[in-house]
Amino acid sequence: MTRAILSLGANLGDREQTIRDAVRALRALDGVTVSAASGLVETPALKAAGVDVDAPAYLNAAVAIETTLSPEALLAALNGIERDHGRVRAERWGDRTLDIDIVTMGGLQRSDERLTLPHPRAAERAFVLRPWLEIDPHAELPGLGRVDTLVSATTDEVRPYAAEALL
Ligand code: ATP
Ligand code: CA
Ligand code: CA
Repeated sequence: MTRAILSLGANLGDREQTIRDAVRALRALDGVTVSAASGLVETPALKAAGVDVDAPAYLNAAVAIETTLSPEALLAALNGIERDHGRVRAERWGDRTLDIDIVTMGGLQRSDERLTLPHPRAAERAFVLRPWLEIDPHAELPGLGRVDTLVSATTDEVRPYAAEALL
C-alpha cells in the first residue's frame, strides 16, 4: 500500500456537489481506500497570466488515499473520474468542472511527460498545501521540505468554505 495525496479542484457547475461526487468515486475505485479528506477552501482562479478575478472561483480540497495502484494506473483512474464529471481539456489551466492531481505518492520522485511526482507546482500553491496540512500537519514534500514552511512562502488567497465534512 502506498499513501498518496490528491488535490481536487472545481470552478464550473455545482462545485461542492462535484467534489463530493468525486470523493465518492474515489472510494469506489478498486485498489483505493480514502483515509482522510480536508475541508473545502475557496480560491481565485489561477490562469497562465496569473490570478483571474473574472473567472469563477475554485473550490479545492485535499484527500489522502492508500492505494495498491501504480502511479500510471492511479492517474488513469483519476482522469476517468474527471471525464465522468464532464471535464473537457481545452486551454491549459482553463475553467473546469473537475481537476484531480496527484500531489505526492509515497516518497516517489519522478519526472516525465505523463506524470511528475511530487506535482511540480504543488510547492507554491497554498490551495494545495493548506488543505493538505489540515489532514497531515507534519507533511513533507519529497525533495522540497516541510509543507508548513513551504506554505508560508505562498501568496495565493485561500478562504475556508463552510460545508459538511467530505468524509
Ligand atoms: P497543473 O498541472 O498546473 O495543476 P492542470 O491540472 O490544469 O495544471 P491538466 O490539464 O489537468 O493540468 O493536466 C495536464 C497533464 O499533466 C496531464 O495530462 C498529466 O499527464 C500531467 N501530469 C503530470 N504530473 C501530474 C500529476 N502529479 N498529477 C496529475 N497530472 C499530472
Ligand atoms: Ca491542477
Ligand atoms: Ca490536472
